[in-house]
Amino acid sequence: MIADKRHPVRRLNSANRWVFLAASVIPGLVFAQSQKEPDWARLQDETMLHYQTLLRMDTSDPPGNERPAAEYLKQVLEREGIPVRLFEAEPNRVNLVARLKGNGKKRPLLIMGHTDVVTVDPKKWTFPPFSATRNGGYVYGRGTVDDKDNVVAALMTMLTLKRMNVPLDRDVIFLAEAGEEGTTRVGIQYMVEHHFSEIDAEFCYAEGGNVARVGGRVQYASLQTAEKIPHSIELTASGTSGHASVPLGDNAVVRLSAAIAALGAWKPPILLNDTTRAYFKNLADISQRADAIRYRAVLDSNSKSASDAVDYFAQHEPRHASMLRSSISPTMVQAGYRINVIPSEAKATLDVRLLPDDDPASFLETVRKVVNDSAVRVEYGARDVRPGAPSARLDTEAFRVLETGVAQNYDTVRLPTMSTGATDMAYLRAKGIQCYGIGPATDVEDGPKGFGAHSDQERILETELHRFVRFNWDTVVALARAK
Ligand SMILES: [Zn+2]
Repeated sequence: MIADKRHPVRRLNSANRWVFLAASVIPGLVFAQSQKEPDWARLQDETMLHYQTLLRMDTSDPPGNERPAAEYLKQVLEREGIPVRLFEAEPNRVNLVARLKGNGKKRPLLIMGHTDVVTVDPKKWTFPPFSATRNGGYVYGRGTVDDKDNVVAALMTMLTLKRMNVPLDRDVIFLAEAGEEGTTRVGIQYMVEHHFSEIDAEFCYAEGGNVARVGGRVQYASLQTAEKIPHSIELTASGTSGHASVPLGDNAVVRLSAAIAALGAWKPPILLNDTTRAYFKNLADISQRADAIRYRAVLDSNSKSASDAVDYFAQHEPRHASMLRSSISPTMVQAGYRINVIPSEAKATLDVRLLPDDDPASFLETVRKVVNDSAVRVEYGARDVRPGAPSARLDTEAFRVLETGVAQNYDTVRLPTMSTGATDMAYLRAKGIQCYGIGPATDVEDGPKGFGAHSDQERILETELHRFVRFNWDTVVALARAK
């Protein structure tokens, strides 16, 4: 039951390396080496059983219907004597909270995963999207990497903590939330606004990170510690209306187009925060020379070489460009209603992603200056989005535990990462919880082939699912176990 089943040689290697890293990162963690280990061979079978069961539940959002997943998890947890509560904001949109009590010396740790998945086009799938087919070392199905991997890893960690009766310095709370894929009002938003005491914690681990493999080899682990903040800006151009056979100098469509073009050409200032500074520095250390030069160049954000590097990123690595500045993507334009009428108004909507430290009011002022046309109104628009929140700190016990877990399980470097999109962690960070995004290893080549999160198909390597469960276990135990 509790013998270490790791291959002896592999264990020696990884343990040696880990002890070395652990001593330099967090000396107190060395204890874990002498701890009893779960029976991983047996837990892998059980992991696969729960994972496939969850994948076979169609929780496509919309409409969501997370109820079967929540009820299944409830039954599995309660069978082991772990108390569970369900919270339902709207019919069948069920959130689950399970809690293992600690001795209260430290504030709780929240581990979370969402049970809903994005919708599918079944025609695009080689194996049916809710079949959880195992083939060639992979499991295929919607939700395999977003986010039933995190759900099952958290579940297995809870079950194993309980079975091994691990004494805890802090409560470990498992939240399986509904509605992450576009309906947070029934998921994390509902939980934060109406049942916050159920999930209030010092730290949180959730989706948002990953481990990148290239050519089958692990390159680095991303730990998500920050995210850009979504806003909407609306441009409204006004002009004189009239018969289109007589062109007018103040045509609203022309003015709007000029404003959009000016913003398209604008390069907002390059700004770094703790996360992106560490990210580019660490990425440079593991990159080929030409890339490394550019990644180092941006660290001196006011330099000419930094702006040259970001120009290069804008062409070749657009996600990196977006990580370095607040950004604007015009996405919707509305004007006119028939060909021979010059409209008096034309509107554009801009998707805006601010860096976490950027001030929304002064950003808007700058946008007005760039547009530089008094006939074009520039205002923030309404947007149903996650709240802005500061980055997670890199000097916490929770982050150091992840660093150690990465070294121990993946033998690679970790990159603190800022995602350009928003996650459910934004709601928790806004409440002061230090949240970190984690995820299993996937092949970088798999995305372009159409097997990633939200892709036509979705899959995970079985070995990487199991390694992720183990990573989860190691980190949660290191952070919560009674010292
Ligand atoms: Zn997700």
